[in-house]
Amino acid sequence: MKTFILNNYDCIGFDLDSTILQYNIKNLIQLEYKLIIDFLINKRGYNPKYFNESLTDKDWDFMQNGLFFDFEKGNILKLSSKGKVHSASHGTKFLNDEEIEQYYSNRLWDLSKIFIENPLVTRNGPLSLKIRTLLTCFDMPISIIFAKAVDLLDEENGKPLDKYNILPDLLDAILDMYEREQLRNNAGNFYSELKRNPEKYIKKCSPEVLAWIQELKKTKKIFLVTGSNFDFVEFTTSYAFCENLQSLFDIIVCYAKKPGFFTENRPFYSLKNNYEDKILSSEELEVGGIYNQGNFKDLHKFLARISNISNPKCLYIGDNLIEDIYSPNVSGSCNTLAIISEQLSEGMLGYDIPQDYEQVCNSKVWGSFFILKNSSGHEHSYWNHMIKKYSKICIPELKMIINISLDEPLKCFCNEDDDKELNGYYPAKPISIFNL
Ligand SMILES: [Mg+2]
Repeated sequence: MKTFILNNYDCIGFDLDSTILQYNIKNLIQLEYKLIIDFLINKRGYNPKYFNESLTDKDWDFMQNGLFFDFEKGNILKLSSKGKVHSASHGTKFLNDEEIEQYYSNRLWDLSKIFIENPLVTRNGPLSLKIRTLLTCFDMPISIIFAKAVDLLDEENGKPLDKYNILPDLLDAILDMYEREQLRNNAGNFYSELKRNPEKYIKKCSPEVLAWIQELKKTKKIFLVTGSNFDFVEFTTSYAFCENLQSLFDIIVCYAKKPGFFTENRPFYSLKNNYEDKILSSEELEVGGIYNQGNFKDLHKFLARISNISNPKCLYIGDNLIEDIYSPNVSGSCNTLAIISEQLSEGMLGYDIPQDYEQVCNSKVWGSFFILKNSSGHEHSYWNHMIKKYSKICIPELKMIINISLDEPLKCFCNEDDDKELNGYYPAKPISIFNL
């Protein structure tokens, strides 16, 4: 299929955070940064010298979605479509070609090779302590904090260490920040700050976007699959949405544990006071219900039952290229539509760049999210390859698609390895690609 038509789908699913619900990411990331460094300094004894209270312009420029971490070597990497190391830093210091070669002979890293063959195998277990990538605004400051921690340890040691062990402290800091009970108890600093000043962190969702979802719901089955627990979903959407959350969806799945939701067979749970109660079969799921965990196969049976279509065709819309785009595709669950803000922040012909996007999403030191320049010209980034291979179309924000007719055919990516096939960017290609 060379074209994408919304009306070809019987069911449409949505991710919530950074898909329907937008955050003021600049304030959110500054808050996360502050809470993580406070934890490292006060609870893990890190020297505060390198960790300034507020992110500087240089810090902002160092952060980018989709960077890879070589945690043991203290390096941060940008990978090409073939998984080769295109550029790298040790701590905050960028490596030249010779230094990259010393770490990664022929620019190959054995773990990135494993990752590009199957990104899901490095998600858990021992490999997840060695390689990881960041793709959400909830963990974006990790790159600058990890890099500064490496700088600090190198200085204390007088030279680079053979092996770094910073990740366990970072994971503890993240767990401490997002510990769920704190939302209910008004404890900790993350949720209580969001509750005190929601307008600082959460954007009001455009009524037109919500009306569009309700319009879709008249002829299709609409589902929400989010990684967040319902208490957080209720908190953010009651601030951001002018509509009742449940009026928008036929079913709501929380704490879905993507990407496993699409690839594994965890059961659905009913909720009692927002906590998991009983295991449910697909037959027990009800229209209007709110559930935890679950799996796509059971959800698909439910959608077939309520739509009276034996094998309903599903589209899933999300921003996380592993959880929302790759995994629904490889499991054969859904076609996907990617929401990638860099498409707009790097510039699209005929569109203004929102200021907050520009500072947070773009990075002069790492370059374009989509296209990597090298001595012989350019190559595609790993993420551009993922968008092209696993999504039908890619848009920077949901509101870009709400005014097209549901029957309008849009050019789409063709799910091929041909790097020239880049017609699925809608409404326009990012300038980095347009200029090729
Ligand atoms: Mg998301």
